[in-house]
Amino acid sequence: MSKYEWIDHTYDVVVVGAGGSGLRAALGAAQAGLRTACVTKVFPTRSHTVAAQGGISASLGNMGEDDWRWHMYDTVKGSDWLGDQDAIEYLCRHAPDAVYELEHWGVPFSRTPEGKIYQRAFGGMTRNFGEGPVQRTCAAADRTGHAILHTLYGQAVKHKTEFFIEYFALDLIMDEDGACRGVTAWNLEDGKLHRFRAQTVILATGGYGRAYFSATSAHTCTGDGNAMVLRAGLPLQDMEFVQFHPTGIYGAGVLITEGVRGEGGYLTNSEGERFMERYAPSAKDLASRDVVSRSMTVEIREGRGVGPKKDHIYLHLDHLDPDVIHKRLPGISESARVFAGVDVTKEPIPVLPTVHYNMGGIPTNYHGEVLTKRDGNPDCVVPGLMAVGEAACVSVHGANRLGSNSLIDLVVFGRAAGLRAAETLEAGARQPVLPADAGDNAIARLDKFRNAKGGTPTAKLRDRMQHAMQANCAVFRTGEVLDEGVAKIAEVFKAAADIGVSDRTMVWNSDLVETLEFDNLIAQAAVTVTGAAARKESRGAHAREDFPDRDDENWMKHTLAFFDPETGDVRLEERPVHTYTLSDDIQYIEPKARVY
Ligand SMILES: Cc1cc2nc3c(=O)[nH]c(=O)nc-3n(C[C@H](O)[C@H](O)[C@H](O)COP(=O)(O)OP(=O)(O)OC[C@H]3O[C@@H](n4cnc5c(N)ncnc54)[C@H](O)[C@@H]3O)c2cc1C
Repeated sequence: MSKYEWIDHTYDVVVVGAGGSGLRAALGAAQAGLRTACVTKVFPTRSHTVAAQGGISASLGNMGEDDWRWHMYDTVKGSDWLGDQDAIEYLCRHAPDAVYELEHWGVPFSRTPEGKIYQRAFGGMTRNFGEGPVQRTCAAADRTGHAILHTLYGQAVKHKTEFFIEYFALDLIMDEDGACRGVTAWNLEDGKLHRFRAQTVILATGGYGRAYFSATSAHTCTGDGNAMVLRAGLPLQDMEFVQFHPTGIYGAGVLITEGVRGEGGYLTNSEGERFMERYAPSAKDLASRDVVSRSMTVEIREGRGVGPKKDHIYLHLDHLDPDVIHKRLPGISESARVFAGVDVTKEPIPVLPTVHYNMGGIPTNYHGEVLTKRDGNPDCVVPGLMAVGEAACVSVHGANRLGSNSLIDLVVFGRAAGLRAAETLEAGARQPVLPADAGDNAIARLDKFRNAKGGTPTAKLRDRMQHAMQANCAVFRTGEVLDEGVAKIAEVFKAAADIGVSDRTMVWNSDLVETLEFDNLIAQAAVTVTGAAARKESRGAHAREDFPDRDDENWMKHTLAFFDPETGDVRLEERPVHTYTLSDDIQYIEPKARVY
C-alpha cells in the first residue's frame, strides 16, 4: 500500500457535501469558532440543491393565516405516520426563523405587493389541520434552490469555512470502539489522497436518485455518504420509501415543479378529463405526491394515457395568465421548450411520474447525530458522526415527503447540527492519534477498482441496476415483482466481480469515479429493494398491490438495513417511531386514514 502517500489534515469539523444542508452546517460550525472544512466532489454551487425550483415551506402567514402546528399536522399526515413527531415539531417550529435567516443573508425571494416574502400553494399543505389549501411555500420564482445555494456559499466563504473542491470522499475512518475519527478523500485534480482527522464528520452527501433509470436528480446524486455508512457497518433507515414526482418531463425526466399546480396548473388524461378530482375530491391536483403519482399510473394502465403510446399524462398551464408564467415560472417554461418542444402558454406539457427524492437515509436524531442499534438500543448515538439533508433520515418525511419540505429540512437541521457541534465540541481540542492503518480500507477499495481488468464495463452494470430498480421497485409493487428485483440486484452485485476499468491513472479518472459511484449505488439498491420486499403493507410512497392497506399494528416502525459489502447480503432490523412531541404546545397526532 506504500505506493500511496497520505496528506494529513486536522479540523474540528469536516463536512462532506456542499449542498444546502452541508453549507448550512459548515456555516454554523465555523460561526461557532470551530475550525471547519467542507469537502465536495463538485463545485459547491453545482450541488443538486441548485436545481430546486418550487420553494421552501415555513408558516410565515404572509398570504393568509398560518400556524407551525398546522404545518406539523400536514407533515405528519404526509409522512403517513412514519415520521418521528419530536423531529417534525422541531422542523416546523424552527422553519420561520430559518427562512428569515436566509432572507437576512440575502436570498432574493419573490415578493408580495407589500414587500413580504411571496408564498405559493403546494401539495398537502393545509390550514387548520387539514381544512383547505394554504400558501406556505416561500419562493424565489421557480429558482429557489439556486438562490439559496448561492447565498449560503457566499456566507460560508465569508465565515472562513475551508473548502476542498473536487475532492471525492472515499470512506469514514472508524476506531475500534465504533466512533468516527475522520474521513478519507481523493483529490480528483492531482490524484493525491487525503486523510481528514476531525472531532466530528458531518455527512451531507444528498440522495441516491441515480439508482434508478429515470430520475429528476443530477447524475452526481449517488448517495456516496449513505454507502460509506453501510461500509462502516452502520444501518440505513426506511430506504424502501422512494418518492416519484408526478411531473417529470416525459422522456427526459427533467422536473416540472409542483409550483405549477400551486399556481393553478392541472393534469388531464386522453379524454381531456381532470381526473384528480376523482381520486382526491378536495385537494385534487394538490394532493400529496404519492397520491398523484399513483392516480396517474392507474389512468395510464387503464388506457387513458396520452400520446401515440398512451403512456403519459398532460400538465396544463396554458389557461394561466402569461404574465404569471413569466414572473413566477420562467425556468420551467424554458425546460418545457428545450426538453419537450412545448410552448407552455399554448400547449400542455407531457409528463410522467419520475424518481425524485429519498425519504430513507442515515438515521439521526433531531440534533443531526447519527444513530445505530447496539445491544437492542435503536437510538445509540455514534460518536463523531452526524448527517444532514437528503442523506439523513431524521425522520421528518416518514413514508412520503411533502413538496418544499426538503429545502426547509436542509436549513433547519443544517443549523441544528452546527449548534450541536458548537455545544459539544471544544475548538482546537486535542484529538487521538490515528492508527497507522487508518484509511487502508479506502486504499484497498480504490486499488481493487483501479486494477479491475474484467470484461464488463461499469456503464453496463449501472444500466442493469437502473433498469431493475425502475421495473421492480417503482410506484406500484407486489411481492413477486419485488422478490424478482432482489434477485436481479443480487445478480448485478455478483456480476460486478467481472468489472473492468480502462483508465489506470489517478488524475481526472472519470471511469474510476463512476465505478466508485456505481459501487455505492448497488449497495443502496440492495437495501432499498430488500426493505420493500419485506414491508408487507402500503404506506406513503410504498404502495403494495398485494397489501393495499396501512398496517399500523405490525408496520408502524422504521426499517434499519445493514449491508455486507463482501457478500452483498442485507440484514433488516427495526426501530420504533417516536410517538411523542417535544413540548406541550402540541400533542402527539394520532394516526388516522389519509385522504386528500
Ligand atoms: C430537480 C429538483 C427540484 C427540487 N425542488 C425542490 C423544491 O422546490 N423544494 C424542496 O423542498 N425540495 C426540492 N427538491 C429536493 C431538494 O432540492 C434536495 O433534497 C436537496 O437539495 C438535497 O440537498 P443536500 O444538501 O442534501 O444535497 P445536494 O444538494 O444533493 O448536495 C450533495 C453534496 O454532496 C457532495 N458529495 C456527494 N458525494 C460526495 C463524495 N463522495 N465526496 C465529496 N462530496 C460529495 C456533492 O458534491 C454535493 O455538494 C428538488 C430536487 C430536485 C432533484
